[in-house]
Amino acid sequence: MADANEARILCIASSLEDAPHCLSVFRVSQCALGQSLDGVQEQIDGVVLIGLLAQDVEKYLNEIRLNRHTQLSLVYLQNCASSEQFYALYDGVVEDDSFQTFITHVARFRERRKELRTPEQPSLEDRLISYLFLSDERALMPIRELQASSVYHYPLLSLWDNSDDQHLWTSLLVRNSVLQNEQLLDRLRLCQNCDSGLLNYVDTCPNCQSIDIRSESAIHCFTCGHIADQAQFIRQGALACPNCLTNLKHIGTDYDRPLENHRCNECDHFFIDGQVVAQCYSCGTSNPIERLKQRSIYALKLGESGRIKARTGKANYLIPSAVGVALPKEQFSWTLSWLNRLAERYSEQNIHTEIRSEHSLLILNFSNLTSLIQLESELSLLNQLEAFSDRLRNLLRTTDICCQYNEHILMIMLPHTGQAGMEVIQDKVIKIGEAQSDSTLEVSIGTYFLPIQAIDDNAEQWLASVCSGALP
Ligand SMILES: [Zn+2]
Ligand SMILES: [Zn+2]
Ligand SMILES: [Zn+2]
Repeated sequence: MADANEARILCIASSLEDAPHCLSVFRVSQCALGQSLDGVQEQIDGVVLIGLLAQDVEKYLNEIRLNRHTQLSLVYLQNCASSEQFYALYDGVVEDDSFQTFITHVARFRERRKELRTPEQPSLEDRLISYLFLSDERALMPIRELQASSVYHYPLLSLWDNSDDQHLWTSLLVRNSVLQNEQLLDRLRLCQNCDSGLLNYVDTCPNCQSIDIRSESAIHCFTCGHIADQAQFIRQGALACPNCLTNLKHIGTDYDRPLENHRCNECDHFFIDGQVVAQCYSCGTSNPIERLKQRSIYALKLGESGRIKARTGKANYLIPSAVGVALPKEQFSWTLSWLNRLAERYSEQNIHTEIRSEHSLLILNFSNLTSLIQLESELSLLNQLEAFSDRLRNLLRTTDICCQYNEHILMIMLPHTGQAGMEVIQDKVIKIGEAQSDSTLEVSIGTYFLPIQAIDDNAEQWLASVCSGALP
């Protein structure tokens, strides 16, 4: 494999003598045990950890996935102690007899790297796309972490972004087919109030919800159907029904024992089945079983639009696109010109009447978005935006057209919406912004009513000047 000897491999080992196979094939550099990766100065194709103890494996895997030269590299273990907790961060194990496979993987990785286009300022999503694109065998793997109330998390994402909202974000990427569900690993039930998976299922009294209940062994008289505690059936050492006074001799013929009986120590209520509730250890909420949230936990692979993004490097806008019918910029401008001409003609025809055309344009400027990305967790920011657009979606009609104009401007064209309708919408958008109390997002709103003279058949230019602040 001609390309393989160009590959740059970093061996983390106490001595390079432990890596004879690598040395004979690749361009190898060494990171001596105990040293940090800060000295790495070039893009690395593969990292091989050789003969490390479990705690060193963990320490180096974290460092590798954070270092900008190695975060996307193939990572293999050779004669290392490992644990299930690390699976999510490395690509495989290399042994003497599987070394050929390793060479093939490195060559394929280098091919992929040539195909990969990444934006200049890669977002978290871009990084994840690159990571998954570089090897078909890769998946974003979750691990179980019993100390965390979410129970599962994706260690790679935890390293790259410290938000707790991984699930919402990844399910959004799945919805947009940037990722796809690969393998269902678990299904959780979570507290309806705080999404915690740390739940205790406990029987309670259906009358007063107390957990202080006891089992009673009851007897069911076949003659009259009476059911009561066994103690009430005992007459002079034998069983007799306190209701119909029949002597109960044979179980199955005269009487039987109903399966489960309980009595509440609080309110003395007698019942067959207790009511099971799920008590949340994280927030104390007592959840009726049917109200618990469900969450499926998947290993995630790159989806179709993720692959396209990897190959085209098309920048991802943070602002939500799927609010209504989303059009690319060119088509949006064209539609605006067309609607504007319609409106002009309409108002000329109705020049002597009070009838006005009723189309409008709404421009939302998420003005501090760019600075927020530097300050906040990208995940929590995206989740704020998603919550915002969810509400916005409820406000719009299917005939409204929107366009992601640039990284912080969203435009919405509202046919047959006049000044009065627009005021209502504007009010609601402001309320949406205010309702997100934990949100640091700043949204300013511009409204325009067609016909707009300044468009003058060049909507593209007009939009550009509006967005650069040249027009009010
Ligand atoms: Zn009770
Ligand atoms: Zn009876
Ligand atoms: Zn809870």
